[in-house]
Amino acid sequence: MTKMKTCSLEADVLSAVLAGQVPNELRAHAASCAVCGEAARVASLVRDDCARAQREAQVPAAGVVWLRAQIRAREEAARAVARPIVFTQALAVAALIGLLVSVAGRLSSGVLPWPLLTDASSQTLLRISIVLACGLVLAPVALYVAFSRD
Ligand SMILES: [Zn+2]
Repeated sequence: MTKMKTCSLEADVLSAVLAGQVPNELRAHAASCAVCGEAARVASLVRDDCARAQREAQVPAAGVVWLRAQIRAREEAARAVARPIVFTQALAVAALIGLLVSVAGRLSSGVLPWPLLTDASSQTLLRISIVLACGLVLAPVALYVAFSRD
């Protein structure tokens, strides 16, 4: 296990190289000190890489960024507001479907004297058909109501 070599001027050399302005006395020390020389080379590479990344980065104009942020915030606020409304509408539509199914079931049991619909399984089939028909009719209406305000 080798002991890590340190130098009291290493931090000064690092900050000077990263700032891009190395005083002559620090430059001379870094040329003679192994620790500071290595630190100066690494810091120089990091500074060059950072400068190249800043040159090559394509940052959109501040106005465009601000506009996109405004649009996104507005959309998120509208979505947050619409969520309970859509839930309430879906609940109302479900209640309406349940009401229609019960009314249709009540009416069809007395009105439809079909001989095929006398046993229990046929009655169940009829009720399922009514539910599906109501769903098919009301689903587009519910979707229209839910999404018409967006
Ligand atoms: Zn040193």
